[in-house]
Amino acid sequence: MPKVMTTRGKMLGGSTATNFMMYVRGNKRILTDGHRRFRWGSQWNYENLLPYFKKSEDYNGAWANEPHALKYHGKGGLRNVAKCDYHPGAEELFAAALEKGYSLGDYNGANQEVFSPIDLTTQDGWRENTYRAYYKDTESRFQTVSGKPKAVGVIYKRQGLTRTSTARKEVILSAGTFESAKILMLSGVGPAEHLRSLNISVVKDLPVGANLQDHLVTLVGPFLKAPAVNPNRDVTAQAAYHYLSTGNGILAASDALAGQGFFKSPVAKPDYADLQVIHGAFALYPHLPEDMNKMFGVRVDILKKWFDPYHKNDTDARFGLLVLGRPKSLGNLTLASRNPDDNPIMDPQFLTHPDDVEAMLYGFKKFVDLYENTTALNTPLFHKPVPGCEAKMFKSDDYYRCVIRMFSFTLYHHVGTCALGKVVDGNLKWSRVLGIDGLRVIDASVIPREPNANTQAATIMIAEKGSDLIIADM
Ligand SMILES: Cc1cc2nc3c(=O)[nH]c(=O)nc-3n(C[C@H](O)[C@H](O)[C@H](O)COP(=O)(O)OP(=O)(O)OC[C@H]3O[C@@H](n4cnc5c(N)ncnc54)[C@H](O)[C@@H]3O)c2cc1C
Repeated sequence: MPKVMTTRGKMLGGSTATNFMMYVRGNKRILTDGHRRFRWGSQWNYENLLPYFKKSEDYNGAWANEPHALKYHGKGGLRNVAKCDYHPGAEELFAAALEKGYSLGDYNGANQEVFSPIDLTTQDGWRENTYRAYYKDTESRFQTVSGKPKAVGVIYKRQGLTRTSTARKEVILSAGTFESAKILMLSGVGPAEHLRSLNISVVKDLPVGANLQDHLVTLVGPFLKAPAVNPNRDVTAQAAYHYLSTGNGILAASDALAGQGFFKSPVAKPDYADLQVIHGAFALYPHLPEDMNKMFGVRVDILKKWFDPYHKNDTDARFGLLVLGRPKSLGNLTLASRNPDDNPIMDPQFLTHPDDVEAMLYGFKKFVDLYENTTALNTPLFHKPVPGCEAKMFKSDDYYRCVIRMFSFTLYHHVGTCALGKVVDGNLKWSRVLGIDGLRVIDASVIPREPNANTQAATIMIAEKGSDLIIADM
């Protein structure tokens, strides 16, 4: 079975200290329909959730000067959302999108199906991770983990010693989609049969770990077009001076991300945007295969064969990072053993639902069409087929399906293992583990379905709402 590399941040600020900093909330419809259609609980509806997106935000993004910006965005929150001034090729992308009948606008506003510059969680060009935004200058104490029907504390290891902390009121588990599910299961909260198979006494039979979802992304391109970002050429002493003196420029950007768009495939059900395409203006430079391998786990030998000799010649290029925003394939996470030091087994079941391949195929062809058949971009798809798919007729649907299956990786947006309505309460006791007192989960694991967006904004929204409920309970 093919394997995909995955990771998460293990430092203060968690994955927000290592992520691409893109601030995207998700499709308004998924935020509106969740309660009615999917039974995620009464709290999951746009009117309820919007104030919590706004609460965390100090919005200075690309659409901050629009007349209705404050209807959708917050000012004065602890986390700055900034616009990025460095996005080579983005204006051409937007012009091409307009030619094809798409609109430009704020994807976090009234309508997600637009093209736009990318808003970033940065402050003066510096990464605004959650540690920097929430803890660094704030006095705070926090606790974690489990017990029986009432969670009473947490047992943890530090510097080789096993320690216990007891909770006066409540235990809050915030270890992320992989680790929160793992800790719950190790504490006896999870699928009874699986726990018994590992001789773990069952405290509460709940579908922890089921419903794992992640965002698969495939590379559409390259399109050999300048300008693009080439770190060897563009990261200069002058760029560093510019960054340090203004907080802008290439060093304040998120890699070579240059605009994005959201749109809907014919298999989207309900029929709202299920695809995201992030425009990447990254040149083919000699170390690109190694860099992409480190970032996404893509095989160096395949990339070298595919790009040869263009990467050796520092050729400017652009790509679309096509994201399957609302996958229908559902994965699962299980324990590998009873040892807390072992990683769990993560099986995202990517592309097992046939609609997922068809949605990606539609998006792939749309992006190729955008580059090839607009005056603003007017550049053909790279003429060399992806190694492994040469047997298929180049640019046929089967060729694209092969690329999607062969050449996709994760964007690290794993969610859903402790889903609202299934593992934690989606109603008034929001985020409390069902059937257990004194235990909440507050992190991306409670997000029930991928929201057609990068996942940090929804995670912070959940944390803001959780903190309000906790304070109200005090
Ligand atoms: C490489 C990468 C790029 C991404 N890019 C973006 C992006 O551009 N935009 C976006 O919106 N989202 C992005 N994401 C996703 C986003 O960062 C996550 O969805 C979000 O941070 C999830 O928050 P969380 O609190 O659930 O988990 P995490 O951020 O993973 O935090 C979990 C925390 O728990 C700690 N922890 C785990 N287990 C234990 C334990 N046993 N004991 C003690 N502590 C523990 C970890 O160290 C970590 O600090 C990206 C993620 C990655 C990894």
